[in-house]
Amino acid sequence: MITLDGVGKTYPGGVHALRDVSLTVDAGEMVGIVGPSGSGKSTMLHLIGALDLPTTGTVTIAGQELSRLSDRRLSALRGRTVGFVFQQFHLAAGVSALDNVADGLLYAAVPLRERRQRAEQALTRVGLGHRLAHRPHQLSGGEKQRVAIARAVVGDPALLLADEPTGNLDSVSGTQVLQLLRDLHTAGTTIVVITHDRDVAAGLPRRVDLRDGQVIT
Ligand code: ADP
Ligand code: MG
Repeated sequence: MITLDGVGKTYPGGVHALRDVSLTVDAGEMVGIVGPSGSGKSTMLHLIGALDLPTTGTVTIAGQELSRLSDRRLSALRGRTVGFVFQQFHLAAGVSALDNVADGLLYAAVPLRERRQRAEQALTRVGLGHRLAHRPHQLSGGEKQRVAIARAVVGDPALLLADEPTGNLDSVSGTQVLQLLRDLHTAGTTIVVITHDRDVAAGLPRRVDLRDGQVIT
């Protein structure tokens, strides 16, 4: 599902965020990317999610080497193959949970009625079937993150990428969100979770430790 081969990423200004990283993640795996702040975790997630390209080396996602793809094919890969969950939720303010999730299908060009039906199913799957009309400011942090997860999986992506998904949550909500990710993994989705939380990392079947832009274990 994911192959990084000799990947380096240098940002303008000369920060070497990743150096010579090689990594393979098989379809159906659940992997934690663990490391202190500044170690390159988000950079790695951006490369895996086709949001950015490496300076050196190659990134291959679902059999497609990213540097060979046009912008249009990169957007298609992001829209169809990858779901994203971020620490800050990134829900649209003033928009119902149902429509926030339905927007996750915009890329698939599905008619609005069907988008809403599938959004309702996804919200039910994350335990929020009773919060369809709630807007983000009416939801708790844990509920907001579950809406964001429903939006990320409503299009059935093969790969789900989560950057510090429990970073803004209390420990009870964090545990629920992590359990939800584990359930999605059991149902067959490949999942990469970034965390600097050792407890979260300890609950994951495979961990990749990053320090100063390099994989150490
Ligand atoms: P983490 O997610 O582990 O905290 P990041 O991947 O965000 O680490 O950052 C790794 C390093 O790259 C840090 O030194 C950070 O300051 C730098 N960095 C991240 N994004 C950019 C950017 N867009 N431009 C310049 N430097 C960046
Ligand atoms: Mg980060």
